[in-house]
Amino acid sequence: MRVLIVEDDRSLARGMEALMATAGFALDCVSSGEEAIGVAVSEPYNLIILDLGLPDMDGLEVLSALRRREVQAPILILTARRAVNDRIEGLDRGADDYLSKPFHPRELQSRARALIRRALGTPDPVLRVGSLSLDRSTRTVALNESVVDLRRREMAVLETLMGRPGKVVTRECLTAEVFNFADAVAPNALDVYVGRLRRKLTPHGPTIRTVRGLGYMLEGG
Ligand code: CA
Repeated sequence: MRVLIVEDDRSLARGMEALMATAGFALDCVSSGEEAIGVAVSEPYNLIILDLGLPDMDGLEVLSALRRREVQAPILILTARRAVNDRIEGLDRGADDYLSKPFHPRELQSRARALIRRALGTPDPVLRVGSLSLDRSTRTVALNESVVDLRRREMAVLETLMGRPGKVVTRECLTAEVFNFADAVAPNALDVYVGRLRRKLTPHGPTIRTVRGLGYMLEGG
């Protein structure tokens, strides 16, 4: 799942980046409202974490601009402000949730997962396709109840496919959700991860079918 962090406090941004990376997210960080709007309209983020105190614009204005431009991603606002009015205004302008600084790192991870689940229409933390299950909270995958050892990116590809079983997931969509801007993505990187997943899920698990010219589809098993 791909997450955008909008935060001008560099050390806090780096801390959040490390924290969210350990929870399996692909992250991009920007430090101004203008950059946030620029990337959020072009990349299909699964979640945007938005600080309200930004150097160039008020975070609430960034929020309104994103919604006006039809950015659909859930938005979690971060604010150091104690005023209840900011939280109310944020939610009423289209934010989905808020956290007040300072926050507990694990609470940020859990709220992020909850917002993403809700936005994808998959409220159960465990995704299941046939004999395969992926627990998005503990980042564990099991096939017929035996744990399958997956690397971070393999799990990210599988998570995206398991969220849309029986549907074609385009290469563009998979690439956008699995890799961030900083990843230098080789043209065949996705195929490499899919190849490894197929080996690990064979012969008892669901099948990852290649749909020529389009992408991949996970079929039960
Ligand atoms: Ca700030």
